[in-house]
Amino acid sequence: MVKMSESLKETKYLIKKYKIKANKNLGQNFLVDDEALQDIANGANIQKDDLVIEIGPGLGSLTQILLEKAKKVICIELDKKMVQIIKERFVAYNNIEIINEDVLKIDLKKIIQDSQIENVKIVANLPYYITTPIIMKLVENNLGIDSITVMIQKEVAERLIAIPGEKETGAITYTVYYYCEGEKIREVENTCFIPEPEVTSEVINLKLRKEPAVKVKDKKVMFNIIKSAYMQRRKTLVNSLCNVGVFKSKEQGIDMLKKIGLREDIRPENLSIEDFARLTDIFLNNLGKE
Ligand code: SAM
Repeated sequence: MVKMSESLKETKYLIKKYKIKANKNLGQNFLVDDEALQDIANGANIQKDDLVIEIGPGLGSLTQILLEKAKKVICIELDKKMVQIIKERFVAYNNIEIINEDVLKIDLKKIIQDSQIENVKIVANLPYYITTPIIMKLVENNLGIDSITVMIQKEVAERLIAIPGEKETGAITYTVYYYCEGEKIREVENTCFIPEPEVTSEVINLKLRKEPAVKVKDKKVMFNIIKSAYMQRRKTLVNSLCNVGVFKSKEQGIDMLKKIGLREDIRPENLSIEDFARLTDIFLNNLGKE
């Protein structure tokens, strides 16, 4: 007989006890596979003196493992009912803090500073409907975190950890690559959740770089150019950037590309982050001369 996983047993028990109906609007899919839960925690490489911030603890299956490994776990959960449940479930632990807030609105920098713990790791089975804004908030705000280990939708995961230029590349790939080194931990089938999501999931680890991947005069301008280029990724770079006014004319665009050693018919997905950095610098130099 196949042994029922501990997290599945516990989740079924909690769902019955508290009469839980998973809220789809909050992306509530509870992970009930012991091995996948352990793999997330192991992928985060949590040490005894770490602060772990868990986004969306839900019924607490992952929280249970994190509490055993870290110095302190701060849980940020939007759903009041979940907050009540994990407060009761982990009443015996003195290394947990539970904050009932929207992760997108909360001041993470202050929470981290107030903790006075140096090594900070983010670990989560994220609510998929807000994956991108959460990841952007975590990587762009200089929070002083070491790493982000999250389970997200597989397609999104592969875009986030691609090396710019690979086939999964999107505009967001460059931003994540600029700030982090990404690595795949494992895939997780939808049968590992209650209720089952419609998509396959993937656990990834993003290590925040000490220095950004590339030097550029103005990173905001670079990311805007990348976004503009990717709005029409099948067109040539010159055409895309002409259409949004980055290049004043095709001739100007071709001239700029030539100066940085790129072909005039190159497409956005063939540019490395170094190419976009060079293009940004030359664009800004040109602006300065006008
Ligand atoms: N960690 C649990 C697990 O692995 O079974 C639950 C993960 S579930 C995919 C996502 C969790 O994020 C839910 O508990 C949901 O209520 C919570 N959540 C959704 N939106 C949120 C937000 N804006 N801020 C904080 N938590 C949120």
